[in-house]
Amino acid sequence: MKEMGRWSNGRWVWDFQWRRDLLDRELEVVQSLTTFISEVSPKFDCEDRWEWRGHKSGTYTTNSAYRIIKSLKEDKAELPLAVMAARKIWKSPAPHKARMTAWRALFNRLPTCNNLVKRQIDVGVVERNCNGCFAQEETANHILLRCPKIDGIWNNMYAWLGFQSVRPFAIPDHFLSFSQLGSSKNSGRFLSALWSCIVWVVWRRRNESRFDDKSWEIDQVVLEIKARMWSWNSIFDILGGELSFREWCSSSICSLLCK
Ligand SMILES: [Zn+2]
Repeated sequence: MKEMGRWSNGRWVWDFQWRRDLLDRELEVVQSLTTFISEVSPKFDCEDRWEWRGHKSGTYTTNSAYRIIKSLKEDKAELPLAVMAARKIWKSPAPHKARMTAWRALFNRLPTCNNLVKRQIDVGVVERNCNGCFAQEETANHILLRCPKIDGIWNNMYAWLGFQSVRPFAIPDHFLSFSQLGSSKNSGRFLSALWSCIVWVVWRRRNESRFDDKSWEIDQVVLEIKARMWSWNSIFDILGGELSFREWCSSSICSLLCK
């Protein structure tokens, strides 16, 4: 590990050496790895050791692990909302890449500018702002829920589904509220997948805009989301019903969510 970083003023700074130049698509993975591991701060004058936090002795026992898992199941009301939301996300029929992005959003693990700055990664003063509205600092909450451009996407989605609802501004609350909008047997699965799809598409557009200088319009993104959900619905048979793409994009979708 000592070859992967150095001490600077008593603080550990990661400094990865790669055997070859990284490809563009690998840069984001590295950013995300850096964000993830920067939460771990080695201590200068301590030897490395393993510690099991499930027992006061610091030693792992099957019994203590069993008790932790059991208490998590029993104390559902106590579970943080992000954990409850993540469980629903993992059960949703969205492809893995979309669920993974949604999971990272729920736990604020996306390498947004504010997260990179927190990890002392220099992103430049100008680049700290959202590149949708250019007016606010780029946080996951802003680019996925609060930015006026994103708000336009959510407005379209709610109108498409035929629902009106108060929209919470915290990401896990927003997901839980959204996933409970429908009343049909499969609506929860569909809405969880749709929420993941929206977050995934918006995050990809953000990356294309930031790294490839590609702009996007609300209507294009809305159409892409509807098209992807139409395709996922035919692959995973989430809602049943055989709608043409034209019917799918119209308000017919509402009848499948509420029947
Ligand atoms: Zn914005």
